[in-house]
Amino acid sequence: MARRKLLMGNWKMNKTSAEAKEFAIAAKPLAQLAKANKIDLGVAPTYLSLQVTRAKAAKSMIVAAQNCHYKESGAYTGEVSIPMLKEMKINWVILGHSERRAYDNETSEKCNLKIKALLANDMTPLYCVGETLEEFEAGKTKEVVGEQIRKGLEGLSEEDGKKLVIAYEPVWSIGTGKNASTEIAQDVCNFIRKVLKECVGKSASKIRILYGGSVKPENIKAYLSCPDVDGALVGGASLKIDSYTKLLEEII
Ligand code: PEP
Repeated sequence: MARRKLLMGNWKMNKTSAEAKEFAIAAKPLAQLAKANKIDLGVAPTYLSLQVTRAKAAKSMIVAAQNCHYKESGAYTGEVSIPMLKEMKINWVILGHSERRAYDNETSEKCNLKIKALLANDMTPLYCVGETLEEFEAGKTKEVVGEQIRKGLEGLSEEDGKKLVIAYEPVWSIGTGKNASTEIAQDVCNFIRKVLKECVGKSASKIRILYGGSVKPENIKAYLSCPDVDGALVGGASLKIDSYTKLLEEII
C-alpha cells in the first residue's frame, strides 16, 4: 500500500497563542483540501499554543508538540509530560530535532526513552535525524544517521514500527536556504529505510520518511517525487499561511 503523504510545519519558538489561533482558523479549508487529496497536514506549535491550536484547527489537522519528557511526572523543572499532552488531545510529538540535539542535549538515547513512552501511550513520535555540515563534508552522513536511527529505535518491535514517522534533516540545510539535492535526499532516505528494516523488520516499508531543510513551495514537489521521501518537515515556510497553502497545493 502506498504511504500517505505528510506535510508538517515546525513552528519552533515562533507565534504567540493569538497568532497560532489565527493560523489554525485560516488553515481550516486547507485541512479539508488535504483530506480530500489523502494528504496528512499538521503543525507543531510551542507548548503554550497547543491548546488553542488544537481547539481551533480542523479535526483532521495534526497538532504536534515539539518535545516531551519520558517520565509521567516528577521533579523535572521546565518539562512537560506525555499525560499532560494527552489531556490536550495532542497525539504527535517531534523528537530529536537538530536544534534540540545541539542546544538541549537531546541525545538519541534520550529520544529512545521518549519514543518508547509515546508508543506505550499510543502516540506518534516524529523522530528527526541528520548530519552536521562537518559530518557531511567528512563523508559521514550515513554513519551518523545510521547510528541516530539504531540508537533512537533500539528495542522497538515490528508492531511499534507501524506508528513511527522519521524526518531526515541535514543540519546544514535547516534554516540556511542551502538545499540538499534530491539525489542526496533520496539516497539518504533510502539508506534510512534499510536501517529501519534492520530495526523494525517488515514495517519499515510502511514508515513515512519526511525530508526537511529549507523546503519551500519552489522545491517541495521535487523532494516528494523521490521514491523514499513521503513528505516534508518545514520550518520557515510553514509560518505564513500563504506559503503553507502553496506547499500543500504543490504536492496535490
Ligand atoms: C525544521 O525546522 O525542521 C526545518 C527544516 O526548518 P527550515 O524549513 O526553516 O529549514
